[in-house]
Amino acid sequence: GLPPYDPQNIFARILRGEIPCKKVHEDEFALAFHDINPLAPTHVLVIPKGPYVSAADFHAGATTEEIAGFWRAVGAVAKSLGLEQPGHRLITNMGPHSGQEVPHFHVHILGGRPLGRMLT
Ligand code: 5GP
Repeated sequence: GLPPYDPQNIFARILRGEIPCKKVHEDEFALAFHDINPLAPTHVLVIPKGPYVSAADFHAGATTEEIAGFWRAVGAVAKSLGLEQPGHRLITNMGPHSGQEVPHFHVHILGGRPLGRMLT
């Protein structure tokens, strides 16, 4: 199964305000901030406020309201950054095979240039 949630992970510390971030959006359900090591002209991370290790954990454990609120925030952030058109990419890594580094569920929003075809 999934590892337990580690409340000392770096995104938990960002949520508690213990570590700064370049915030782009915050609401009841989600926080969005610029990735510290951007891989595209726009590279933003969106995280839910609850303690979820990965997407599997989030979709199984969060309330319907949390899930809807989170995904609405992802869409709102992409739109506010001007990425809805011409488009962008959403990525979420889950577990060892994905290379997930931070064990708090997050969605990468990547855009600002043509990203190429990439499914792995
Ligand atoms: P993962 O591989 O877990 O999907 O991606 C984690 C992402 O978090 C990486 O793109 C990495 O650059 C970013 N990251 C790691 N530590 C920090 C941090 O302290 N602040 C910010 N803003 N991003 C971070």
